Amino acid sequence: MDFQDKTLTCKDCSKEFTWSAGEQKFYQDKGLQNSPSRCPDCRKQMKEKKTNRQMYPITCKECGKAGEVPFEPRDPKDVLCAECFTKNKTAGGTPESKSDAEPAKTEEPEQTTDANI
Ligand SMILES: [Zn+2]
Ligand SMILES: [Zn+2]
Repeated sequence: MDFQDKTLTCKDCSKEFTWSAGEQKFYQDKGLQNSPSRCPDCRKQMKEKKTNRQMYPITCKECGKAGEVPFEPRDPKDVLCAECFTKNKTAGGTPESKSDAEPAKTEEPEQTTDANI
C-alpha cells in the first residue's frame, strides 16, 4: 500500500504538521487505527512531562516500607506509601481511628509519680 504525507492539525497547539508516509506505515504496522492528534513537538513534550515528574523518597509510617511520592512531603517520616494511602482512603476511616492495625502507642508519658501526696 502506498502512503502519502498528510497534513494534520495538532489538537494541543493547533499547528499543522506533516504525518509522513513513513510514519503512517509505522502506525499501520503497529495496528494503530487513529492518526496522531498531536504534532511531534507536543508529543515529545507530553513524554517529557511524564518522565520528569519528580519523586521524593519516603519511608511509610504505616508499613515502614521505602517508597516514593510525587510531592515533597513536609515530614518525610510522616508519609504513607501509595499502598497504605489507598488502603486508608478506601477504608474510609480517619487516620486516627486505626482499629486493630497496630498496637496503640501511647504518645503521652505515663502518669509520673512526682506528685507525691
Ligand atoms: Zn502541537
Ligand atoms: Zn505503607
